[in-house]
Amino acid sequence: MKIDTQLVHAGEPSPRIGGAVATPIFQSSTFESRNEASYHDIRYIRMNNTPNHVALHAKLAAIEEGEAALTTASGMAALSATFFSLLKTGDHVLVQQCPYGGSHSLFTHDLAKFGVTHTFVDATKPQTWDAALRPATRAFYAEALTNPLLEVADHAAVARFAKRNRLISFIDSTFATPINFKPLALGYDLVIHSCTKYLNGHSDIVAGAIVGRKDLVEAVTHGANHLGGCLDPHACFLLDRGLKTLSLRMARHNENAVRIAEFLSRHPKIEKVLYPGLESSPHHQRARQYFSGSGGVLGFVPKGGIPAADAILRAVKIPVHAASLGGVESLILRPAGSTHQQMSEAEKRAVGLVPELIRYSTGIEATEDLIADLAQALG
Ligand SMILES: *Cc1c(COP(=O)(O)O)cnc(C)c1O
Repeated sequence: MKIDTQLVHAGEPSPRIGGAVATPIFQSSTFESRNEASYHDIRYIRMNNTPNHVALHAKLAAIEEGEAALTTASGMAALSATFFSLLKTGDHVLVQQCPYGGSHSLFTHDLAKFGVTHTFVDATKPQTWDAALRPATRAFYAEALTNPLLEVADHAAVARFAKRNRLISFIDSTFATPINFKPLALGYDLVIHSCTKYLNGHSDIVAGAIVGRKDLVEAVTHGANHLGGCLDPHACFLLDRGLKTLSLRMARHNENAVRIAEFLSRHPKIEKVLYPGLESSPHHQRARQYFSGSGGVLGFVPKGGIPAADAILRAVKIPVHAASLGGVESLILRPAGSTHQQMSEAEKRAVGLVPELIRYSTGIEATEDLIADLAQALG
């Protein structure tokens, strides 16, 4: 079945519980024993196996075309459970440069403390990866689209390189969603999502997910069962509900972002627009090759530095000045001063993250209204 149908129906309990059309919320921490053989089969919310988890995992596996799935308490819980479960002291990881701020801190601070090392690589340049490889390299970590620069890695090359060198390939596909990109079909081993963003889509929960090879998802599940960052059944219910409209929402997000990117790229007060859906983007060819849409987030650099950027943030009337992205409402911020504060100035300079860059996460509002609002703000 097509993903639109899977989003609505995959994972539904059969037969329906008490005939309920929406899967009910099982707000029970523990469940009557069935003399489970293994610790991990004890039915308890932290074991990620309540009826709400089972239904949601089946839906997530179906829409990402993976063998198995796990949900977690946040996107960072998905990333930390994955890395702490699959990596060990002495391992080395190739990490796409300028990843999500939280992932950056996880590698540079938390995993480093346990002796897991990393090298940042330019994931758009496969010819540079061999030089970064070490005997201890175990994994390659990339993002579907980087945040906030919207770079598109050479994803097919990442998957091939990982296979050839026996590395586990992880991808954070939060910005793409399975509507725009299917990383497992391309050869990635594990897909990670911050479901806080598009998958839930309504800015009302935090949640994460890991989808992919059964053996890897099982290993991460066993790790997560000890680490403890499980998703509450009520949040499972909300995520399941949000997922049902993902396809409709992504169509509007894709459309809004491309139309706003085109508008801004013609505006005299804008120096530069970052959006791989624009033909002028250096990432456009790869975006066309891998994605069916370029997603709802774009970046732009106004002329006039930080004062000009801050004036725009104050003048827009529709987008909310807030962190996060992927909700039905448009959100706007200046990453260098908020989400990416933890990166050093030298690092930001090296990857081209200028302080006046604005990130715009387009919501599902009417395109005309968003463009008119930006026009008045720039005026
Ligand atoms: C938000 C985000 C995360 C972290 O997710 P949380 O749900 O906030 O923990 C990870 N990766 C990307 C790309 C994100 O945008």
